[in-house]
Amino acid sequence: MKKEYTCIMCPMGCSLTVTEGKSGIAVSGNSCRRGAEYAIQEYKDPKRIVTALAFTDVVNCVVPVKTDALIPKGKITDVLAVVSQLKISLPISLGQVVVSNVCDLGANIIVTRTLGAIGKR
Ligand code: SF4
Repeated sequence: MKKEYTCIMCPMGCSLTVTEGKSGIAVSGNSCRRGAEYAIQEYKDPKRIVTALAFTDVVNCVVPVKTDALIPKGKITDVLAVVSQLKISLPISLGQVVVSNVCDLGANIIVTRTLGAIGKR
């Protein structure tokens, strides 16, 4: 099996190829060790920080949120489903946790912007 990636670990953006055969997993195209580690992580268990917008208790007002840790790529939809159900009370501060241990993934959902109570109904 063969898969190709673009390394995002530095601006060079090397084109990486992961090949899995009887002798194991091999990475080519990387210019450094970090690229090989990235490619193997992407091949075996890709993970992402999830960013989104969440509703607040103020009409037409949303607040940016993100996970505070990497989560498996296959769980992004589950996390976004949780975010879509949020109705965050204002005021709220940067870094405040709005969901702890989302989907039992060991990551929290935190707010990435401070918002006051302006316009609250
Ligand atoms: S393989 Fe190394 S040099 Fe190439 S993009 Fe990745 S981190 Fe940068």
